[in-house]
Amino acid sequence: MAYLLSNEIPLCNVDGAVLKPDIVLYEGKVKYMEEAYQAVCDTELFLTLGSSLRVYPVKELPKYIQNAHKITKAIVNNEANK
Ligand SMILES: [Zn+2]
Repeated sequence: MAYLLSNEIPLCNVDGAVLKPDIVLYEGKVKYMEEAYQAVCDTELFLTLGSSLRVYPVKELPKYIQNAHKITKAIVNNEANK
């Protein structure tokens, strides 16, 4: 804890905003979701990498697949999928 408290919060050199890792934190906004919803509408393959599809908003993606019964769907993830 002392290590964390001894370091300054990294700030952007241009505008002074707090720098954050390029990941989605809890309750953070997922980038490019509108594009993802559009892409799955007419996909021929729904391949999921590194997600269980159990967390919003990505868990909603399969609902947007047109003709879902006709396309191949696969999940590649470290956890068991249901
Ligand atoms: Zn900046």
